[in-house]
Amino acid sequence: IQERFDAIVVGAGPSGNAAAYTMAKGGLKVLQIERGEYPGSKNVQGAILYADALERIIPDFREDAPLERHVIEQRIWVIDDSSHTGMHYRSEDFNEEKPNRYTIIRAQFDRWFSSKVREAGAIVLCETTVTELVKDTKGNVIGVRTDRQGGPLLADVVVLAEGVNGLVGQRAALRDELKPENVALAVKEMHFLPQEVIESRFNLKGDGGVVIEAMGTVTKGMTGTGFLYTNRESISIGIGCIVDDIRKSGMTPYNLLDSFKQHPSIAPLIAGSEVKEYVAHLIPEGGFRAMPETQGNGWLVVGDAAHLVNAVHREGSNLAMTSGRVAGETIVWLKRRREPCTAANLAEYRKRLEDSFVLKDMRKYRKIPALLHNNRHLLNLYPRIMSTAAQTWLRVDGKAKKAKETEIIQRLRTQRGLTGMLADGWRLARAWR
Ligand code: FAD
Repeated sequence: IQERFDAIVVGAGPSGNAAAYTMAKGGLKVLQIERGEYPGSKNVQGAILYADALERIIPDFREDAPLERHVIEQRIWVIDDSSHTGMHYRSEDFNEEKPNRYTIIRAQFDRWFSSKVREAGAIVLCETTVTELVKDTKGNVIGVRTDRQGGPLLADVVVLAEGVNGLVGQRAALRDELKPENVALAVKEMHFLPQEVIESRFNLKGDGGVVIEAMGTVTKGMTGTGFLYTNRESISIGIGCIVDDIRKSGMTPYNLLDSFKQHPSIAPLIAGSEVKEYVAHLIPEGGFRAMPETQGNGWLVVGDAAHLVNAVHREGSNLAMTSGRVAGETIVWLKRRREPCTAANLAEYRKRLEDSFVLKDMRKYRKIPALLHNNRHLLNLYPRIMSTAAQTWLRVDGKAKKAKETEIIQRLRTQRGLTGMLADGWRLARAWR
């Protein structure tokens, strides 16, 4: 007799681990399948971990999770070729007993999370790729096939937590192919430096950390951002741009990262470091309008595979963990009521997501991807305008302040024009609502 599971989870990233853990803790018989040599071996993230999402799954995670630094300072930089205009927020309040954000190294973090999934009672099968979904004659999903020998693996429900590419879902016609305008390609390097060098460069002590998000001319007119995060003994630095833009620009992601690293505001922060890792990965950044169907008969989809990334706030892993948890809770709830995992019953998952911050935030920013895509000057022209205005204002050169004000306003008028700026402001305000 073939073994049958209550649920099969495809993938052991944050979304799959959250779903598998929640269901195993809820007493279900769970099989999780991961193609990597171990969970995390194939995964890439900046990475900032948002504690709240994990705390709702494993409240005492701080006791043994591999955490690097808790974030005490956030820098947001608008960059032009030679300068940056920054907003920094640093607070002693972030040195709290249970910090809110941490930097992590994904390979270590995913492995730890997976050990919790095993402890909760799920079977975790690594080095195994799910090749396709198995359907019954009515088209309901009833299991998966893998690249291992043997027949199909059957379950009442399959949770697709396979990440951004979503190939298993695509092959089963549950979703469309990813569009190049809806996905960013990010490249990242790990730069190693002694702990004390990192602490003196960023004015840190203990486990406190700094994160920098950078936008502007560094993405060469493309929609995208750069980032730099401090770990204990390394710095994660990366940049990502929309694939469609990269394709049209003819630039390589490596060139982009190289020019980001050489920027005069960035170069001194990583000087003398030893580079140990270079990785590239896609990020689903098309927003709410690019989301596929989230559930159907015998299946549901979570995390990046469901296109759940809030690119404006640089959040992905928390949406992944929350959607995984909510999916798991919904399945446990249906099982306890002895209800089958039909599309109508699994719609409860969607309802719970709608009630959570996940779909509220995705809806709020639904117009932003198209706004940025259709108004390339926003990330190119305004950083230059801000930089020249700041320089005019700050240089003490014998010019009267009134004359400087007039010069700044005059330059704004010629570079964008009053109506252009009003139109940009109006579009941004409308998209932000
Ligand atoms: P993934 O983490 O991609 O996991 C999917 C898993 O499924 C993988 O382990 C993969 O090997 C496995 N898999 C795929 N196909 C199969 C198959 N057919 N069979 C078996 N296994 C399969 N988010 C943040 O919150 N903070 C950040 O700082 C941040 N920075 C980022 C920086 C970069 C450069 C990138 C690329 C992303 C970043 N993100 C960040 C986004 C975040 O990494 C993702 O949102 C998150 O990893 C999504 O989790 P997931 O479990 O849905 O997918």
